[in-house]
Amino acid sequence: MTASAMLSVEAALEFLLSRARPLTETESVHLLNAGQRVLAGELRARLDVPPANNSAMDGYAVRSAEVHADAWLPVSQRIAAGDAPGPLAEGTVARIFTGAPIPAGADAVIMQEQAHADGERVRFSAVAKTGQNIRLAGEDIARDGVVLPAGAQLGPAQLGLAASVGEAYLDVLRPLRVAVLFTGDELAEPGETLTAGKIYNSNRYWLRGLLEALGCQVRDLGIIPDSLAATRLALADAAATSDVVLTCGGVSVGEEDHVKHAVEREGQLDLWKIAIKPGKPLAFGRIAHADFIGLPGNPVSGYVTFLLLIAPFIRARQGRAARASWPVSRLTAAFDWPRKDPQRTEFVRVRKASRDGQTVLELFPKQGAGVLTSMAWADGLARIPANHIVKAGEQIDYLPFDELLS
Ligand code: AMP
Ligand code: MG
Repeated sequence: MTASAMLSVEAALEFLLSRARPLTETESVHLLNAGQRVLAGELRARLDVPPANNSAMDGYAVRSAEVHADAWLPVSQRIAAGDAPGPLAEGTVARIFTGAPIPAGADAVIMQEQAHADGERVRFSAVAKTGQNIRLAGEDIARDGVVLPAGAQLGPAQLGLAASVGEAYLDVLRPLRVAVLFTGDELAEPGETLTAGKIYNSNRYWLRGLLEALGCQVRDLGIIPDSLAATRLALADAAATSDVVLTCGGVSVGEEDHVKHAVEREGQLDLWKIAIKPGKPLAFGRIAHADFIGLPGNPVSGYVTFLLLIAPFIRARQGRAARASWPVSRLTAAFDWPRKDPQRTEFVRVRKASRDGQTVLELFPKQGAGVLTSMAWADGLARIPANHIVKAGEQIDYLPFDELLS
């Protein structure tokens, strides 16, 4: 890959994914601490869920053949959730509550709204169909069935599901360690007084948020001065303790851009011009055993590049199940995009809105590569192919932020 030719964003993604070596080291982690972790192997159920037939209603467990409308039957037992009932005596019914086990012999539950109780006996206004209001053992999960596939990331639903099959500990992959550093003598931290020529280090705050949302363990090395020596030192330190080293800024080929030279000295580097707007320069390489990724310094360029290219790479690196492609849906543009870019695919900041009962995409008016307002306002990106203009009313590709990150 030469530095001069522009690489399509699809080709860049394919290349990055081909280089993503999934983690393999596993550890056993208690469910309460396993949020966001990635399952190392598939999880199978050691039991049926629910473990026994149980009542879906408060009512009466009956033998359906014995129930005749308005005929009295004696109530021989009371079964609450958590009880272990004996068999249902013939010619009788059992008072039963939601979640309680169905006694042997009963084949239906009649809900209490259809029952008229009088002391120890009850009559029903309706007959019963076999199986009604009974949740069957194994209805949710059958014993030995696959509960979760290998590579699943454990969100709240997955943790609840693992708990329902009784697993206290899960074998998960260790977290991916990502070091972040921010280049630029112009950078100051929020809370500091801004002196002439300085700007605040905004990239630090969205980048850490994105990495943490993906479940990475972040090592934050802060701001690195624009000098070759300082950059080399910081990169070597970061690589020694991390799986992936991510930098922001300094990857162009200006005199103050030291990342490229520093990585070339410490490891190896490809510098790509990617045919996307915003975004363009992206560096990828190796330092010792760590992968190196250099994001562009412009906040929106860095953010968009991260969502489209780096998030999928990180997911694969974490050992998560592969995603075939970006989450794209087609929606109606509520805007014109009259300026076509001859070479680059543009990813513009949009958000969904409802107009006359139809979902449309609105465009943020300022699309500059440094305008972070656009990211905070938008809920996704619209993809505009190279050499294409958009007319309001046209169907275009929409990539929601939440799905790009999920
Ligand atoms: P660079 O890639 O270093 O040439 O930076 C491109 C632009 O992004 C410049 O205007 C920088 O000031 C800006 N920039 C670089 N790093 C950051 C950062 N961490 N936070 C906010 N802006 C940044
Ligand atoms: Mg810079």
